Amino acid sequence: MLGALLFSMGITKLFKQRFTIARVYGIPVRIDYRWLVVVALSVWLIASNLQNYAIQVVNVRVPPHAPTIAWLLGLITTAGLFLSVFGHELAHALMAKAEGIEIEEIVLHPFGGLARLKTDPQNPRAEFRIALAGPASSFLFAILAFLATKIAAMGNYESTVVVFFLISAGNLLLALFNLFPGYPLDGGRVLRALIWRRTGDIKEATRKAGICGILIGGMLVLFGVYILISPNWRAAQPYFMGTWSILVGLFLLDTALKVVKSAHNARLVTVAEAMSPPIAVEPGLVITRFVDDVLSLHRQTSFPVALNERLHGILTLEDLKSLPRERWATTRVQAVMRPVAPGFFVEPTTTLDSAQAVMKENGIGAIAIVNGSGKLVGFLQSGNIKRRSQTAPR
Ligand SMILES: [Zn+2]
Repeated sequence: MLGALLFSMGITKLFKQRFTIARVYGIPVRIDYRWLVVVALSVWLIASNLQNYAIQVVNVRVPPHAPTIAWLLGLITTAGLFLSVFGHELAHALMAKAEGIEIEEIVLHPFGGLARLKTDPQNPRAEFRIALAGPASSFLFAILAFLATKIAAMGNYESTVVVFFLISAGNLLLALFNLFPGYPLDGGRVLRALIWRRTGDIKEATRKAGICGILIGGMLVLFGVYILISPNWRAAQPYFMGTWSILVGLFLLDTALKVVKSAHNARLVTVAEAMSPPIAVEPGLVITRFVDDVLSLHRQTSFPVALNERLHGILTLEDLKSLPRERWATTRVQAVMRPVAPGFFVEPTTTLDSAQAVMKENGIGAIAIVNGSGKLVGFLQSGNIKRRSQTAPR
């Protein structure tokens, strides 16, 4: 237990040190500086192989390269692989953006990449699409690079053949590995989305996908140990492959364990469980009437504005304050309210955690809950949540 604890602290620390190298579509791209070690390893592995061995790629036989050329090709191929991992993460990020989710950052770390979202996907469909976007883009890159390999092979451009072939193989591996059905891999997220959609229970879906992640991580560790001790693998750089497999397996184990634990801790309460019925005001209501009829009965700091159960905006007392009292009788709610915007509402299946994150961002401290058919079904104020969760039975 202590060992596991120490280990998990070490792994967490491993991801703290990072620097920003670029912004793409406004998304900061950060690099964990330990990732540079992996880049160096990749260059070295490719260069030393190209230097020492003849390679048969498609129908081209590539003889060993001179050292300078081998290192240059190692660099170019590694740059291509780096762009591939980045492209994979960018695909996740852009799909998340299309689903209305803001992206915190893209991180390239020693075990690949991570597109960190500001809030979790609100429904299984969004989760499914965002998870699949990564492997789909990697498959596409693999096909394109393979076509380039074939074209280079026709012209007998040996070095170009090698570079594109390695990039193609790298992308295929990236796509296939990420489709393993265990959380936090993309395949695990797909699995979580499928269970979530079938059962409607995100907590249970997360737990199951996390357990699959633990199994896959465990299998990778065992596989790595097997490579290290099995005589059959001696020929092909067993130490590197075995150690790598163990490290990636431990990383998965660690992340999946945390996810399963947090699902156990019931932090995944949904908005539907925490929300109150909406006290909605109509956009055409005159402010005097609002103050007399609604505000006098309901001491809230904000109210959803809706007509026929469709959300039009949110009215905050803060905004009302700036309106002179003598104009109350002639001004309608719609003139003072904040018109509906993406950060103003979530779906009932959203977790309370991510709804709270949205509330922090939207500057209102409250959020409307709108169901799949666009109907206003609830309202949530951040001030009320604490009271609720203190009294809620666990
Ligand atoms: Zn991915």
